[in-house]
Amino acid sequence: MPDLIEIPANLLPADGRFGSGPGKVQPEFVQRLADHATDFLGTSHRQATVRKVVGRARAGLSELFALPDGYEVLLGLGGSTTFWDAASFGLIERQSQHAVIGEFSQKFAQVTAAAPHLRAPEVITTEPGLTPTPCRANDDIDAHCFPHNETSTGVSMEVVRPNASDALVVVDATSGAGGLRVDAAQFDVYYFAPQKCFGGDGGLWLALVSPNAIERIERLARSDRWRPAALDLGTALEQSRLDQTYNTPALATVFLLAEQVDWMVANGSLEGMATRCDRSAATVYGWAERHPLADPFVGDPGCRSHVTATIDFDERVDAAALAATLRTNGIIDTEPYRKLGRNQLRIALFPNIEPDDIAALTRCIDHVLERMVPA
Ligand SMILES: *Cc1c(COP(=O)(O)O)cnc(C)c1O
Repeated sequence: MPDLIEIPANLLPADGRFGSGPGKVQPEFVQRLADHATDFLGTSHRQATVRKVVGRARAGLSELFALPDGYEVLLGLGGSTTFWDAASFGLIERQSQHAVIGEFSQKFAQVTAAAPHLRAPEVITTEPGLTPTPCRANDDIDAHCFPHNETSTGVSMEVVRPNASDALVVVDATSGAGGLRVDAAQFDVYYFAPQKCFGGDGGLWLALVSPNAIERIERLARSDRWRPAALDLGTALEQSRLDQTYNTPALATVFLLAEQVDWMVANGSLEGMATRCDRSAATVYGWAERHPLADPFVGDPGCRSHVTATIDFDERVDAAALAATLRTNGIIDTEPYRKLGRNQLRIALFPNIEPDDIAALTRCIDHVLERMVPA
């Protein structure tokens, strides 16, 4: 075991959390939650105290994403993974199409493939890290499903309606929402969870839904298709309109979300957040391109994620040891997505992460590499 490499304090970032989910939570909002330890936590989610906070989060999200008239904000319990199950019952009518570009997009395709009441999905696969093949019109399918940001690889896709298609556009925005620009007219369902760009806690799903998606949800809710009660999107629609969830949510999660959304709206809204992420992305990818031992994993700059950067290292670098050394210095969660199996670091560039801390992180990595890799 080599001696521990110690990073000098003057190089360290102000906050050492660079994880891609759960991601950095702003301590100020946790403090504010503590300030409401006795009048919010431990109170009924059916009463005004909590419903007002849910309402604030829903209204804030409408404003953040500049939702057109008729779009609504739905929420339910269980995170994005649960939303996939709910969508397989209450959103997809007969057959879905999936752009699969990594682990998360693959998981949704597996859900619809396993659903006995749906036809086998059409799957359009792109190898991890390569420029994604987008969804395309196909008269048989009624939902195009693709991720805004594939968190396992650091590849982003543009949110655009496929030409000449009137199927619903259903976007997994779990890690992209709040950090990447999006035009609501281009999607019908844009779903996410609060533990990534929204810097909150997990266990909740949120979905921005268009009038066409609402029509689909209502129609399937009236149909005789069996669906588990807790996964019923018709119920989620009714409950969300009342600023409630079907069953009890984690109140702390709801509170942190409302605080975070307010902060985002007050700091330039989506454009302001995306600008922060652009700055962080320019810093980290610029650094990797110049570094003789590092390279952005995603070759095409147009689909390099501005919310999760994946950086490959030369074989002379043991990236796992690098991440471990960073961790002992208080810089945490830079490990790559395990199943991708690359000699890589994955660095979140979420809006809560200070762009200056991304710059500090690159200087810390330089410091470690200079001592770790023989010249
Ligand atoms: C994190 C993530 C998920 C899973 O979210 P959960 O809330 O843990 O279910 C799904 N899709 C993408 C793109 C993600 O980044």
